[in-house]
Amino acid sequence: MTYFSDLGLSKPILAALEAKGYTEPTPIQMQAIPPLLEGRDLCGIAQTGTGKTAAFALPAIQYLSENKKPRAPLTCRMLVLAPTRELAAQIAASFRDYGKQSQLSVETVFGGVPIGKQIRAMSQGVDVLVATPGRLLDLIDQRALSLRNVEIFVLDEADQMLDLGFIHALKRIDTLLPKQRQSLFFSATMPKSIADLGNRFLNNPIRVSVAPQSTTAERVEQYVTYISQTEKQALLTISLQTIENIDRALVFTRTKHGADKVVKHLQAANIGCAAIHGNKSQPQRTQALQAFRSGEIKILIATDIAARGIDVSGVSHVFNYELPNVPEQYVHRIGRTARAGADGIAISFVDGEERGWLRQIERLTRVQLEPMALPDDFDNLKAKLPKPVATKSTHNPNRDRGPGGRRPPVGETREGDRPRRRFGPKPNGVGAHKGAVRRTAGR
Ligand code: AMP
Repeated sequence: MTYFSDLGLSKPILAALEAKGYTEPTPIQMQAIPPLLEGRDLCGIAQTGTGKTAAFALPAIQYLSENKKPRAPLTCRMLVLAPTRELAAQIAASFRDYGKQSQLSVETVFGGVPIGKQIRAMSQGVDVLVATPGRLLDLIDQRALSLRNVEIFVLDEADQMLDLGFIHALKRIDTLLPKQRQSLFFSATMPKSIADLGNRFLNNPIRVSVAPQSTTAERVEQYVTYISQTEKQALLTISLQTIENIDRALVFTRTKHGADKVVKHLQAANIGCAAIHGNKSQPQRTQALQAFRSGEIKILIATDIAARGIDVSGVSHVFNYELPNVPEQYVHRIGRTARAGADGIAISFVDGEERGWLRQIERLTRVQLEPMALPDDFDNLKAKLPKPVATKSTHNPNRDRGPGGRRPPVGETREGDRPRRRFGPKPNGVGAHKGAVRRTAGR
């Protein structure tokens, strides 16, 4: 058995790990920590849930605290880029946790909150800065930050960065970083486009890979119910009312508007829930996550972007209210359950127009989803469901901003496009499908 003490970690860090109750390193920690302590670059294929944050945070904290430097205004010594605010906040919390005894300063900057406080926080300089790319560039453009002193650079969740359209921001950030530095690059998948991006940042990296995607996918029991888009809400409500042993469930919708609609319907049926997506303010998102973590609510409705990197243990069920149109996203979603070796259940609601996406998902995971019949007496139960009370829309178009307060980059518009059009013909696509869909055998 390998212990943290075998990896070359210092006493204060070992003490912090003991306080956290971690007894042994995860595979990525075993592979990554020794070469990172030697200053090597690293290219890692790993998802959240594998312990990768500690894998890069621990050696960095050790290096920064053993090589202390006075803070230089408007700079940071370590830069971690994350695709979403939630992940950035989570990474910063890990740094604070693991580095308790090292007195390093840790700051986060991300969009969706006023920039003034972040500008002030950077004025003295910080040791570790965790940022989303858009807001980072805003700070640089406002001369509130320079990257010239970065000694360690981490690009986390590179595949999601590309999905969110951050490629140009990343290329620009690359030109602003000093040549002499240690670089780490993580992605859950490594197709050529992402490997090419990695090559821009990395210099003779060691390569580590843990838990290939299919492994996660194989651990989760996966079901599909074929159902028309218009009946999905009823199916979800009835499923949440009737399926046994739901400890915590995550429900994924493709749009922010769709997430809000689901919440209204579930609340009308007295099912406690909250939504988390890019139109919610940061305090609303934090509050929803906390309520879900604490068990105050058992159901969280999320869009892909908001859910990215959420680390909540004990998620027993993942519902795909709509399938993602990027098959890798499906693996990320169902990876929210079955964490740390536990089994989980994923149930996908698939409309006729989503069948193509389902085929792509099955090809990627090499797992065939098992058909699940509609609940007995579905039509009767559906007819009895309460309707939500009509409320005035509180949609604020100015909130449809991407990370960094910008207009959403290409990949994010699917989250933001629906609320903007409220009148006129429906767009083509899943939400517009009204036609009859063959139902699962067993009805
Ligand atoms: P990550 O992949 O970094 O998001 O980590 C997933 C979860 O695993 C987090 O809740 C960590 O606190 C936890 N974790 C990380 N390393 C270990 C370890 N060696 N032992 C137990 N839990 C860990």
